[in-house]
Amino acid sequence: MSVADYQQYDQIAVIALNQPPLNSLGHELRASINALLQKALEDQDIKAIIVTSAHDTFCAGADIREFGLPAAANAPNLRTLIENFEASKKPVIAAIRGICAGGGLELAMAAHYRVAQSNTEFAFPEVKLGLIPGAGGTQKLPRAIGVEPAIQFMMSGNFVKGAELAKTSLIDCIIDDHFLDNVIAFANTLIIDRKPLKRLRDITLANTPFSAELEHFLLPYYKTAAHYPAPIAVIDSVKDAFTETYETGLQNERTRFIELSNTSSSRALRHAFFAPRACQKIPGIDTSTPNKTINSVGIIGAGTMGTGIAMNFLNANINTVILDQSPAALDASLAKINTHYQDYVKKSRLSISQAEYSLSHLKASSNYDDLREVDLVIEAAYEDLELKKAIFRKLDQVTRKDTILASNTSTLDINAIAACVSQPERVVGLHFFSPANIMKLLEVVRTTSTSNTVIATAFSLAKKIGKLAVLSGVCDGFIGNRMLEHYGRMARILVEEGALPWQVDQALEEWGMGMGPFRVFDLVGNDVAWAVRKRRYVEKPHVRYGKVADEICLLGRFGQKTHKGWYHYEIGSRDPVPDPEVEKIIIAYRKQHGITPQHFTPEDIVKRCIFALINEGARILEEGIALRASDIDVVYLTGYGFPRFRGGPMKYADELGLGNVIHELNALYQESGDPFWRPAKILEQYAAAGKSLN
Ligand code: NAD
Repeated sequence: MSVADYQQYDQIAVIALNQPPLNSLGHELRASINALLQKALEDQDIKAIIVTSAHDTFCAGADIREFGLPAAANAPNLRTLIENFEASKKPVIAAIRGICAGGGLELAMAAHYRVAQSNTEFAFPEVKLGLIPGAGGTQKLPRAIGVEPAIQFMMSGNFVKGAELAKTSLIDCIIDDHFLDNVIAFANTLIIDRKPLKRLRDITLANTPFSAELEHFLLPYYKTAAHYPAPIAVIDSVKDAFTETYETGLQNERTRFIELSNTSSSRALRHAFFAPRACQKIPGIDTSTPNKTINSVGIIGAGTMGTGIAMNFLNANINTVILDQSPAALDASLAKINTHYQDYVKKSRLSISQAEYSLSHLKASSNYDDLREVDLVIEAAYEDLELKKAIFRKLDQVTRKDTILASNTSTLDINAIAACVSQPERVVGLHFFSPANIMKLLEVVRTTSTSNTVIATAFSLAKKIGKLAVLSGVCDGFIGNRMLEHYGRMARILVEEGALPWQVDQALEEWGMGMGPFRVFDLVGNDVAWAVRKRRYVEKPHVRYGKVADEICLLGRFGQKTHKGWYHYEIGSRDPVPDPEVEKIIIAYRKQHGITPQHFTPEDIVKRCIFALINEGARILEEGIALRASDIDVVYLTGYGFPRFRGGPMKYADELGLGNVIHELNALYQESGDPFWRPAKILEQYAAAGKSLN
């Protein structure tokens, strides 16, 4: 199949891009468009050229998989194509439907005329990848829609509908019906009326200062410019559009584009873009793997997680039975769900009928018989292995033999739970994150017996309820929490050894983490980590834990829920206030244990905590718990507030260079004697082979 079609309608040539789904401008498509353009230019009978799509997406942009590869530079590149459009002596008309983004929009802006549908979606999403449009977009868009709208358009990276742009020079005509016929009629009129060959590049812009409204819009971008430089490059390039010649503006844009594409921020953002796509690919599972439709779900445990999990299914209008042994827990859960939907109606995020429709799918129960016909059960009872085993034995008796049985356990051995069921292949871990109706991440945990059908079903169900699924093997804490345990452990040891909780939080937040560890502990509840630690003291007594945290818990300082934790919280406020009481507790603890406080720089703090994530992440990879390094990055970017501009802990390790990571880990080991810091073997193997993790 050709990647672009050519058809002649009397004096008009129609070049239709035909590389579904996105018509990404890879080398083959560029070459094809260029060849067909030359064909139309050479044909004496052709008087106008329409460039459109053979399907419902005009063009989503450059093929970013070509990034950094020789194919990206292969002639003709996008800029040559654009020059050839602009140089055409015959009118070129871009006829745009569906998506028109990035390089696709730059190509469309090189046409002399643009026709679009009202619902065509236009965007320059480059900033989301740490880039700017690199083929004239920053110079032409301000000329097409105005300086300030162009800045907002390019800095947000979001889609804007054709209807909203209809009155600008970006769109000459909106055609919604009988699209191609009417575009051909439009082209014929241009020929008959001998309309001029308009070029956006020829428009002159006035040099006017930015409005106060725009300056206000720009403020947050200036604040984050050190980590996200692309938006600032958009502003600088747009300034060129009204202070420099078009050619100089174009050259400067190119220089900035190349500089940005070589930043670690852009590499990380591109990685963060591709990684969630990669994690949907599971060896042995493809479209031919049987996949069950889930029309009904049972949830056991109407606590924090069960309630949040239920809302995901209600939002997707899937019948949901929520079961709890405690009538009080069921009442509280129903009240919480009702309040949630009422709030959504109040905030106009849902209509009353939508909310009522979702709620009509909910049933509360205390009777396992109500689970007889459901397609999936998710257990979210207390974190107690014996209790969970008993629940699964019961489920084995009451559910259909093809019902998928899932546990939301955070730490327990799902292999042991699966062993309680006569068909262990139907057991899987579905580890939601709190608040479960909000957090996008879902760890799908494959036991030694889980069938491919169950995994495939879990992944499609995740999509249906708006979650991003990542596959994990069975281990204590799976991918995310297993790494977090060491991150938290190092944060607590730092406090024992001389830092204060707010210094640790500040260092990590300035480095980019969404929330420092001590704020997270207070949010989740210090009792939660304490319960895990108590188990660890027995299981692994030789490990150093940072037991100063126990002193905080012994005082009932469980965090936000008790208004006191590592911080103090005013009643009704979630703002953490550093608490002198906590400092006293820490100082007393150090004295009692003969610890001389050390001084830690923010870099020391970041190194210990982030390298803990890297080393444990590498072990997770080595053990095959995660399929690939980028899956670990997805877990951290989606579930743990890891900064996108660093791409995830594994990508960050790659950026540092694995040799350097090993060197630092060895130094931490020498300094502390903690065997945890011995570099994971996989790091050494990859470094020796000159490979990166991603
Ligand atoms: P929770 O204490 O808020 O709720 C547990 C509920 O289970 C209670 O309402 C209890 O009455 C009910 N229950 C206990 N035994 C039952 C039984 N035999 N039959 C029916 N109902 C029963 O706990 P939670 O925080 O919602 O955690 C639930 C599970 O989710 C745990 O395994 C936990 O590790 C896991 N998890 C928790 C979080 C979190 O942040 N809270 C995050 C991910 C996973």
